[in-house]
Amino acid sequence: MMVNQPFTSKRAPIFKDVPDEKWNDWRWQLSNRINTPEEFERVIPLTNSERKALAAAHLFRVDITPYFISLINPDDPNDPIRKQVVPSEIEMTPFTAMMEDSLAEDRHSPVPGLVHRYPDRALMLVTTQCASYCRYCTRSRIVGDPAATFSRDEFEMQIEYLKSTPQVRDVLLSGGDPLVLAPKILEEILIRLRELNNNATALYKITKRLRLQI
Ligand code: SF4
Repeated sequence: MMVNQPFTSKRAPIFKDVPDEKWNDWRWQLSNRINTPEEFERVIPLTNSERKALAAAHLFRVDITPYFISLINPDDPNDPIRKQVVPSEIEMTPFTAMMEDSLAEDRHSPVPGLVHRYPDRALMLVTTQCASYCRYCTRSRIVGDPAATFSRDEFEMQIEYLKSTPQVRDVLLSGGDPLVLAPKILEEILIRLRELNNNATALYKITKRLRLQI
């Protein structure tokens, strides 16, 4: 028989006095993200390689929520979660196969922020922001850059494109992380996508599955 275990949200010692209502509030987590070497050192001792990368100005953005950094074992320089979010100097070394857009998404974007590579599905990039930034991100050319947000006009262009492309039955919301959007904005996007499905003609009536891919 399966026994339900109470979920304990892991916290690094530095966060032990944060009241639960703050700790469990995603807005508090976003506003208290770790990004400077000094803040990191208060949670995990940095390696020289990490220190060097954090001091570099040109690297992909660094931000880690207090919860996410609490999952890292501070005594293990090879902790897999640490590798996921803490930059190291390896990131500063160019390599032969490096590509800015390794999945050729820009080439498959008929309108800004919409990737249409396979006939029946499309990817809508609804934000360029994430709660924590992964070092392996294949979209680092735009993700994390506050100047690279998608405009209202571009969103309307995406919707128009989907309207005129009825073979698309699967729309994945991505970015960035769509779950950092205010619930009101996310709901509006979902409403507009549902309308597309409701307005489809009998010939093209399809089930649009709304999926979040982050
Ligand atoms: S878009 Fe996805 S992979 Fe890239 S940084 Fe954000 S969460 Fe990580």
